[in-house]
Amino acid sequence: MISELLRKLPSVDELLKSPPSSKWLSEYPRHFVLKAIRAVLQQYREMILNGKLQDLEKQHLLTEIEKQIKLISGKSLKPLINATGVVIHTNLGRAPLAEEALQNIIAVSKGYSNLEFNLSTGKRGKRYDHISGILRDITGAEDALVVNNNASAVLLSLSALARGKEVIVSRGELVEIGGSFRIPDVMLQSGAILKEVGTTNKTHPQDYEQAISESTALLLKVHQSNYRIIGFTEDVAIERLVNIAHKAGLPLMYDLGSGCFIDLRPLGITEEPVVAEVVRKGVDIVTFSGDKLLGGPQAGIILGKRELIKQISRHPLTRAVRIDKLTLSALEATLHLYLDTERAKEAIPVLSMLFQDIKRIKNRAQRLARLLRKEFQDITVNVVADNSQAGGGSLPEISLPTYVVSVEKKDMPPDKLKKALRGSNPPVIVRIRDDQVVLDMRTVQDREIPLIIKSFKDIFSSA
Ligand SMILES: *Cc1c(COP(=O)(O)O)cnc(C)c1O
Repeated sequence: MISELLRKLPSVDELLKSPPSSKWLSEYPRHFVLKAIRAVLQQYREMILNGKLQDLEKQHLLTEIEKQIKLISGKSLKPLINATGVVIHTNLGRAPLAEEALQNIIAVSKGYSNLEFNLSTGKRGKRYDHISGILRDITGAEDALVVNNNASAVLLSLSALARGKEVIVSRGELVEIGGSFRIPDVMLQSGAILKEVGTTNKTHPQDYEQAISESTALLLKVHQSNYRIIGFTEDVAIERLVNIAHKAGLPLMYDLGSGCFIDLRPLGITEEPVVAEVVRKGVDIVTFSGDKLLGGPQAGIILGKRELIKQISRHPLTRAVRIDKLTLSALEATLHLYLDTERAKEAIPVLSMLFQDIKRIKNRAQRLARLLRKEFQDITVNVVADNSQAGGGSLPEISLPTYVVSVEKKDMPPDKLKKALRGSNPPVIVRIRDDQVVLDMRTVQDREIPLIIKSFKDIFSSA
């Protein structure tokens, strides 16, 4: 019986010559077709040997192969729908890009570009020059340099300015950002020597003053980003730190983390200083990410005094952490949007999601709820007022009012529904609140609503 079934199992060659194969080969790379055939044949062989297969149906075998081809030929990195309400979600790719940024990536990278070519002299140019001008205009800084990400911006700046010398940092700012970026570890890598001052909750001006010596290279301030020290606390204001540093003839560097060009105080967000204000206060080197509150591509931006930027750009590590043309084109287009603040708030997705009117969020929630109710009779759908944790792990606990759509299905526990939505096409990432699956409409775009309905259909029709 077993040997008969094994003999009936077609060979790879036979399957490759079968009619569906030519269709597969015209749609998918041969590599995936072969891999799928082999994998399914192997599964069948094992089922036969374990006595789990009594009969061999060719059609069933072909269907399994086709399923397998589809499964393995899908892209690993793919778009999904963020219904968590977390606007800057590091695990979900941080900032979605503005349309203008996407168009510019295509325009610049489809063919050749003047990435390192000066069109007026016909000689070699610098990639950084495309973007330093507009960064100066927006922030008022003397000069700018952009690199791969903010972690490399900090590493590079410290390597170039403080190798073998001391960097003074408050104990309240020795942070670890998600993904194991730890200030003390970065410091060690750069060759700078960490000189901790103050305590976890309080650091005074004289703590900095007393720590300054012949071996000091600079003073470093670090944005607390993902955590807060509350209660009996004190830190030193930027103006005061600038004074202390400059009196000793030293630069002050500020790792801003998120880096924001627009005042977020109207949203009740008080912890994010505007970059231009920090520059105006006299900070000598400022570093921040391109893909957090700025709403651009992954990048690290270094702004500051001309001489210091020159010193940093000459360091050999600059080449190792250099920015690529896709990023540069997206970043330049995003920065152009900032020349008009109102335009930026509409065109840059991160800002439009933060600034959007609560009524719009509510309308979107009601629209999704209506469509879900119409499509599925056996689920309970409600629109509920809630709060979005807008910043996620990379920003302070920014909490903004929002509307969510809650979905309940009698025979499906919320964990199971959450998992099913994650496995659907496209994946929909939701959160659970009060034992219910909720979709936060702050981070869902109007065009994604039909896709959400489709994902629910997939789940409920196969369940
Ligand atoms: C996010 C963050 C970083 C790391 O920035 P990446 O762009 O993720 O490399 C460094 N410092 C602070 C304070 C941050 O918030």
